[in-house]
Amino acid sequence: QAHLDRIAAVDGDVHAFLHVSDHALDVAADIDRRRAAGEHLGALAGVPLAIKDVLVTTDMPSTSGSKILEGFMSPYDATVVARSRAAGLVPLGKTNMDEFAMGSSTEHSAYGPTHNPWDLDRIPGGSGGGSAAAVAAFETPIALGSDTGGSIRQPAHVTGTVGMKPTYGGVSRYGAIALASSLDQVGPVSRTVLDSALLHDVIGGHDPHDATSLTDQWPSFADAAREGARGDVLKGLRVGVITELPDSGFQAGVSASFREALDAMAAQGAEIVEISAPHFEYGVAAYYLILPAEASSNLAKFDSVRFGMRVNVPGGTVEDVMAATRDAGFGPEVKRRVILGTYALSAGYYDAYYGSAQKVRTLIQQDFENAFSQVDIIATPSAPTTAFRLGEKIDDPLQMYLNDVTTIPANLAGVPGISIPSGLAAEDGLPVGIQFLAPLREDARLYRVGAAVE
Ligand code: GLN
Repeated sequence: QAHLDRIAAVDGDVHAFLHVSDHALDVAADIDRRRAAGEHLGALAGVPLAIKDVLVTTDMPSTSGSKILEGFMSPYDATVVARSRAAGLVPLGKTNMDEFAMGSSTEHSAYGPTHNPWDLDRIPGGSGGGSAAAVAAFETPIALGSDTGGSIRQPAHVTGTVGMKPTYGGVSRYGAIALASSLDQVGPVSRTVLDSALLHDVIGGHDPHDATSLTDQWPSFADAAREGARGDVLKGLRVGVITELPDSGFQAGVSASFREALDAMAAQGAEIVEISAPHFEYGVAAYYLILPAEASSNLAKFDSVRFGMRVNVPGGTVEDVMAATRDAGFGPEVKRRVILGTYALSAGYYDAYYGSAQKVRTLIQQDFENAFSQVDIIATPSAPTTAFRLGEKIDDPLQMYLNDVTTIPANLAGVPGISIPSGLAAEDGLPVGIQFLAPLREDARLYRVGAAVE
């Protein structure tokens, strides 16, 4: 009730939610009954959960921020939603996002932008700005997001929250409306590292419905976070700092906060090691070929027949109806990327664009392998700037894309990454995050280190 009250009080300004559940209190009461009956429920039973609208739910509409799916009701729950319900979490509602998760500011949502609770004139990050803003504004203690190029970590950075992108395949993508299938990962957003770890324990692990789901037995991430908060895990930890990360483009307060965080880690015994990752600078370019290519293929299913909206064209052909529907249903950023993607995949250009981008992807994976032969984790600022103003970059897609420079490499390589708050930038008083990256499957290391640093 307290969270519903909070939503009623502030969400008119923040606009983190696209839909608020009308039966959250019934679900909570049912969990109380189960607990009273002696059922053993997990640590998060009864805890409210906000769900990014990219994840399908049977009891609330799922739009992925697009008009083409307005009012769409899914016949099944995403695996992460089903697992959250089974663990007794209480879905509060669906959160706002850039259309089909394309963006860094939520300004590409078909339902209007979300506002950053720290300063309502500024962006909450994207694409999962709704989940991060809801957590930052105390509308929910915890939320689910998805991260294809930074959409969990960059919103966490600009809202002073924690956001974790798990190892690719560590959390099921079943029921996550696909953006770019080789990059997408679902993960938690919260106010503390332990809260994210607890939610990751609930949603993670093998799912036969997702063909790319890993069959690993994962350790308890909550235990890892508790260990980090207790022990001296920073002693002797080798922390890699990338020499090639450009100084230009990084806001002074972001760089300063990053250096302070490193100094604090060094003071607790961490060894700061310079490492070279010469191909990271090509990550954004490779990503913005691979992502549109995969997205154009994934979005072909919105064909006016199978899902959502249909615009009828009297006397028109099937193609006319399809074209009219996609014209009315998709926003400008989605159209831009579908056009880019189909071009990059077209005969004659496939090798030059998509093929080259995949080679760069391999080089970035090799950069990570080389780096992790020398260090235990890599640290970077989570994003180059603090929250920019709504409207500031909306007409300049390239500037918007460059915001992902530090987050994208993890998606290209599949490695896990976490953003945790590292203070406020001196010049604007806005939150800054530090990102840690670990080798594939070493998600627990991020929770251990994150909890030690936060
Ligand atoms: N900002 C990135 C993009 O626009 C990241 C998106 C995401 O992670 N879903 O593609």
